[in-house]
Amino acid sequence: MAKVLIIAEQRDGRLKKSTFELIGASHAAGNETHVALLGESIAGLAQELADYGAQKIHVGDHTGLKFYTSEAYAKVLLPMIQSLSPGIILASHTPTGRDLMPRLAAQLNVGLASDCTQLSFAGEQIQVRRPVYAGKATVEVEFLGAGPRMATVRPNAIGIPKPDSTKQAEVISLTVALGTPVTRVVEVIKGTSARPDVTEASIVISGGRSLKNAENFKLLEDTADVVGGAVGASRAAVDAGYRPHRDQVGQTGKVVSPSLYVACGISGAIQHLAGMRTSKIIVAINTDPEAPIFQVADYGVVGDLFTVVPLLQEELKKIRDH
Ligand SMILES: Cc1cc2nc3c(=O)[nH]c(=O)nc-3n(C[C@H](O)[C@H](O)[C@H](O)COP(=O)(O)OP(=O)(O)OC[C@H]3O[C@@H](n4cnc5c(N)ncnc54)[C@H](O)[C@@H]3O)c2cc1C
Repeated sequence: MAKVLIIAEQRDGRLKKSTFELIGASHAAGNETHVALLGESIAGLAQELADYGAQKIHVGDHTGLKFYTSEAYAKVLLPMIQSLSPGIILASHTPTGRDLMPRLAAQLNVGLASDCTQLSFAGEQIQVRRPVYAGKATVEVEFLGAGPRMATVRPNAIGIPKPDSTKQAEVISLTVALGTPVTRVVEVIKGTSARPDVTEASIVISGGRSLKNAENFKLLEDTADVVGGAVGASRAAVDAGYRPHRDQVGQTGKVVSPSLYVACGISGAIQHLAGMRTSKIIVAINTDPEAPIFQVADYGVVGDLFTVVPLLQEELKKIRDH
């Protein structure tokens, strides 16, 4: 059994699902599961963390933590980590986790395994697997030397346990002393989409250059809306101006691991596969039977997406309505 600290992630008072995955995995392994929760007016989120198995929740509630900055978060977390002495520290491999964890690891002078897609606990040790060479190979990482052992885990890689609202956790208030920060967030410009982000959604429907223009992506949006999914895009579609960069999946975009990834008119270049090949089920729709995407697809449809996607949408509506 290890003492595990999970760094929770919330935005606008809503916890990220990927935080529940980490808590659930630690709790299921019988670890002493601590969670650090930072932000402004977020103390009310503690019960939700408890529902997934958090035992001790360290809350840093301060106006200076309203918006995430690695500087402010590290200032609060470092002394807390030093006094708690966790054996393992985990965060989600999201933009926040990718920014914060290397800073903490450097300040603690320990190693960090990032973008892990598998995680297992063995006493004080963790063993993790992470994709390398744009997803062509997977390496198993073992930590040597003194802890804490630090890892970021790809969202949707582990799965969320069922919450149990009868679970209780101890809530501990953290001392927040931010001093005079050298960085501050001036403005947060939000996207207008009501759909989930591609990294958070359990279903992602992506389109490529073959969509031909931005308007044709409405077909994918309407299909995604039937199942509450997100719309992703290849870099070719983003470069052509059909979608914003935040929707790009791949090596220079976002890495996604949904339950279902539907690639519509995407060739399957290695750089695209780097961002989606760990999806649980991959469906490819492509006119070219030789397209590389079919090599990673669980189900493939050789056909014109403008014929196939409307049919898929109709079937999904039937399933949703019954
Ligand atoms: C350094 C670097 C980083 C990169 N990063 C990324 C990245 O992060 N993400 C990314 O996606 N790419 C990335 N790329 C680009 C990548 O190499 C490909 O060029 C890109 O993924 C191709 O996009 P695409 O599949 O939409 O277009 P194409 O390769 O042009 O493929 C279009 C596909 O659509 C099919 N098609 C055409 N019409 C239809 C139709 N009506 N119905 C069904 N199928 C149809 C075709 O058969 C074809 O397979 C990167 C490249 C480099 C060099």
